[in-house]
Amino acid sequence: MEKRELVILGAGPAGLSAAIYGRRAGLDTLIIEKIAPGGQIRNTDEIENMPGVIHASGLELAEGFRRHAEHFQAEFRSAEVKALKVHEGRKIVVTTAGEIEAGAVIIATGAYFKKLGCPGEEEFIGAGVSYCAVCDASFFVDETVAVVGGGNTAVEEALYLTRFAKKVYIIHRRDKFRAERVACERAAKCEKLAPVWDSVVEAIEGDGLVERVRVKNVRTGEVSALEVAGVFVFVGTAPHNEYLNGLVAEKPGGWIVTGPHMDTSVPGIFAAGDVRDSPLRQVVTAAADGAVAAMSAYHYIDSRGQALEMERK
Ligand SMILES: Cc1cc2nc3c(=O)[nH]c(=O)nc-3n(C[C@H](O)[C@H](O)[C@H](O)COP(=O)(O)OP(=O)(O)OC[C@H]3O[C@@H](n4cnc5c(N)ncnc54)[C@H](O)[C@@H]3O)c2cc1C
Repeated sequence: MEKRELVILGAGPAGLSAAIYGRRAGLDTLIIEKIAPGGQIRNTDEIENMPGVIHASGLELAEGFRRHAEHFQAEFRSAEVKALKVHEGRKIVVTTAGEIEAGAVIIATGAYFKKLGCPGEEEFIGAGVSYCAVCDASFFVDETVAVVGGGNTAVEEALYLTRFAKKVYIIHRRDKFRAERVACERAAKCEKLAPVWDSVVEAIEGDGLVERVRVKNVRTGEVSALEVAGVFVFVGTAPHNEYLNGLVAEKPGGWIVTGPHMDTSVPGIFAAGDVRDSPLRQVVTAAADGAVAAMSAYHYIDSRGQALEMERK
């Protein structure tokens, strides 16, 4: 079986940063990606919060990460990870292009935002449809926007948006939020927030940019239009962890539990970026996680190398 020192699962900002640090620490580093290097940022037009990069398209930033990892001779493999197994202490990565035994593994397969699935949603991503207030709120100063959802994230992000937008609708399918009491109380007191109860989004419309959202009242069946410049969708996020089958400890929702060294519950397996239980999911935090995970992997491999040498003496 193919053997590698460090195998990184996923080539988003976390995986690519881990590859840079892994190679610079002298590790034989293989990075496995099922779509294309860059991860989620490939789908966004504007990134303004990556320190040192005042403005870039997501694709430019993704390409910069990829070139940097290639510059240090990280090896890329186009394949999907189907399973990660530990057998008598050996870590085996099962991919659509074969199996690899790894000295250490970094899980960096990211997360995804659940979609509404309504007409216009895909079309207007980056042109008014967003899944991240921290990323995009500043593009909606003095505009009217809509938030879709009624859980904690939706209410918290809607409150964050009121610092920028002049009015924020919250479209929710029920007649009260599912958020924690404190968030609900803050929302009730906020004059810029306008809940649209018992309602679902039927379509997002515009001409190049979002101009309105069509909303259906689930009790009356009535359809109305709200004039908005942006639609922020918060109907759930989930990690790409399906291939793990519970191998490492997870929080509810499947987010991987990590220690300060990005260590998981299984020795020699680390996790970085959006896939882990993290208070903020951004490019900068993913890249930072990747750096920590790679150095932890280096120390793990190094200490095991020394242990093996001692066993041999
Ligand atoms: C539309 C949009 C706009 C955003 N805007 C910003 C912004 O302005 N600023 C900011 O800081 N952040 C922004 N973000 C968030 C940011 O993109 C993420 O926080 C960041 O990409 C997380 O990096 P990651 O490497 O952890 O995961 P990801 O970027 O999700 O990368 C994971 C990679 O793993 C691959 N993968 C998954 N499963 C497998 C498998 N089984 N086998 C092989 N490969 C696999 C995926 O294809 C992907 O390439 C935005 C996100 C989106 C969706």
